[in-house]
Amino acid sequence: MTPERKEFLPQVPQLDLSEGTEMLTDFSREAQRHLIAARNALLILETVPSDREAVEDVFKTFHTIKGLADFLDLHDIFSLTASSETLLDKFRKNLLQLDNDMILLITRAIEALQKLLELLDEQIVNGGELKSEYLDVTSIIAAVDETIRKSSSSARPVKPIVRNIPKINFEPDMTACTLFKQQLEHAQGRVDCEVGVLSKLLQDYEETGRELKVAQSKLHERQRELIKERELAIKLTQQAQEEARAKSEYLANMSHEIRTLINAILGFTDLLKESGLNSKQNEHLNTIIVSGRMLLEIVNDILDFSKVESGKLKLEKIPFNLDYVVEEVFKIIRTRLTSKPINLYFNIALDVPRFLMGDPTRLKQIFINLIDNAIKFTEHGEIGLEVSLVGQNGFTQPGRTLKFLVRDTGIGIPEDRQDAVFETFTQANDATTRIYGGSGLGLALCKTFVETMGGTIWLESKLGEGSRFIFTICFDESTEHPPKEDVVVLQKNAGAEVLIVDMHETSLRQYLPQFEAARLNVLAVCQTAKQASELLLSREKGQQSLPALIFIDLLLPEKQAYMLAYKLKQQEHYKNIKLIGVSSDVKVETSSEFNQAGFDIFLPKPIISAELCDVLQRVLGEKTDYARVLSDEMIQKISCSGVRVLVAEDSIPNMELLKVHFETLGCTCDYAANGQEAIEFLRKNDYGICFMDLQMPVMGGVEATRIIRNELKKNLPIIALTAAELEDEKDRCLEAGMTDYLPKPFGVDELKEKIIRNTKM
Ligand code: ADP
Repeated sequence: MTPERKEFLPQVPQLDLSEGTEMLTDFSREAQRHLIAARNALLILETVPSDREAVEDVFKTFHTIKGLADFLDLHDIFSLTASSETLLDKFRKNLLQLDNDMILLITRAIEALQKLLELLDEQIVNGGELKSEYLDVTSIIAAVDETIRKSSSSARPVKPIVRNIPKINFEPDMTACTLFKQQLEHAQGRVDCEVGVLSKLLQDYEETGRELKVAQSKLHERQRELIKERELAIKLTQQAQEEARAKSEYLANMSHEIRTLINAILGFTDLLKESGLNSKQNEHLNTIIVSGRMLLEIVNDILDFSKVESGKLKLEKIPFNLDYVVEEVFKIIRTRLTSKPINLYFNIALDVPRFLMGDPTRLKQIFINLIDNAIKFTEHGEIGLEVSLVGQNGFTQPGRTLKFLVRDTGIGIPEDRQDAVFETFTQANDATTRIYGGSGLGLALCKTFVETMGGTIWLESKLGEGSRFIFTICFDESTEHPPKEDVVVLQKNAGAEVLIVDMHETSLRQYLPQFEAARLNVLAVCQTAKQASELLLSREKGQQSLPALIFIDLLLPEKQAYMLAYKLKQQEHYKNIKLIGVSSDVKVETSSEFNQAGFDIFLPKPIISAELCDVLQRVLGEKTDYARVLSDEMIQKISCSGVRVLVAEDSIPNMELLKVHFETLGCTCDYAANGQEAIEFLRKNDYGICFMDLQMPVMGGVEATRIIRNELKKNLPIIALTAAELEDEKDRCLEAGMTDYLPKPFGVDELKEKIIRNTKM
């Protein structure tokens, strides 16, 4: 511990010089008194030269003054009077024999004394003006001593000669001198005392100095140790970073390998499905597909997690459309519902800004993780995503804070596990792990993503009633509006009347504004099939128009939807009403039950505006120049037959799978096992498009692309095939000159879409 600083602060003594000044002033006054006496005696001598007593007095006074003048540093003046002193001595011996010379000398002595007096006067007036040597107390005392000694030795009683002249007492004032001496001695004592204090302080300083020196050398020693420790820490950090980087690279490579293989497994399984298997075989195949996808998700989670661990998680800040992101999420999610009677919905409040700046991919990933969990832990009921604007208080962050809520009616999470589920590799309880599987990484990743975006995530849940995962993120609004698929509203059939049969308030809240935007006229909303039948009947009786379309929720209890459809289609007067079956479970569309009930068309839930318009136009036969950029339908229609494709892929199973896909598409293909071989192919031939794996032996995709662009000067589209979704990987591909990016696993349709998008077809 550092000692109190105060301890080291010296007590500096304050020397009071004012007393010395006073003493000098007193002293000067004393000398002045003697001089006046001497001058008076001389004046008497001038007039009564025979007064011996006066001569003695002058003589004594001179001695006194000499002592005083010595320490007043007034030797010059005194040398003037010195000769007069000699003369006075002589004058004393030859008393009463005053001649003219003597009278002259007496006059000069009087003048000199006069001068001395003036100087002393000045000294007294100036008061505090001290010369440094006056402070030499010892010499002052010596001078005074000497004066006293001389004065007393020469003092002897003299008899007055002249009686008629008034007597002036010229006795030297010894008391004043003694007092002065005492004062000086007292001052000396005080100075000695101060000197004592000072030397003690000096000793202390020296001691402190020594201690400081020791402390300083200890400090230097500690400093050297710290430098060494810091160097070691830097080295260890570098080592750890290097290890983390190697680990993450290893994980990325490994997951690339695993995903490449899963891709092949899933691809072939998909192909097998088309090959006329019996129902048992189909069931087994489905299990393989589901397990394969789950395995893929776990690998993806681990890869993401390794990115977070190694600090490689990079978030984008690009303009995106929130509607589009949410719709995309539900398009993916719908296919994962596995026939559970669950109503999926989303609801984005009207005041929520749609064009934002941020990372849409990661936002999508958070939604998918949360909704996937909701599906996993919910057997029936509802799962929805709600987005609202958090009240702006005007002076918080710039931008808009949005609140996202993923709600389910599933098994819920016990209160004591609610915090833990956000930790890595943690599940609410072991039983659920056994039933539902999972890696325990999903929520930890969501938390990391949300927090990296500057937001907060939490959950509210009641066992047996369901869970609500809530997160808030502040987004800047985008001034740039990213392109969205064109949605063309009804033209000829604008204002078509519709009836909605749906018991889910959440869904109605979402799609009533969508119906309005599509120019539909909603006649009524019914909760049950019975209500719908009664309404139709009453309209019929009241000779009111019948709806052109009825949207029927297929989740109505006890198969009401199917029965209603069947009943309506059986009746002649309802035959023209188009029946649209709406459900979150997309598999229903192909079920025999759906087809037999007589529905005209299927519309997946949650309703997506573009899909609604598509369905409306199809069912109402309105063929406008409907321009949905590369709809699934268009992809189906366009043929890729004859396109010359170069494939560079080192994994044999994947290569086999690609062969099957390209054969299906009717493309002519050449296959290279690495980048080097691809370059050789390109030297000899021209291709319409090239699909290139990124990680290959001999030469990887990025390096090969650089050579193709810079040396071969070929500008054919090159599509990166990769399992890794690292953002920097994507950047690296585009930077090297690759045209597009196709993450594994992919199906034949995705391959086809890339060909159509990137070649001039
Ligand atoms: P996992 O991959 O195991 O699902 P997560 O991190 O996504 O890992 O979830 C951790 C655990 O939190 C789950 O195993 C489950 O016990 C619980 N959990 C997550 N979401 C829900 C939900 N919607 N309902 C009930 N439990 C949930």
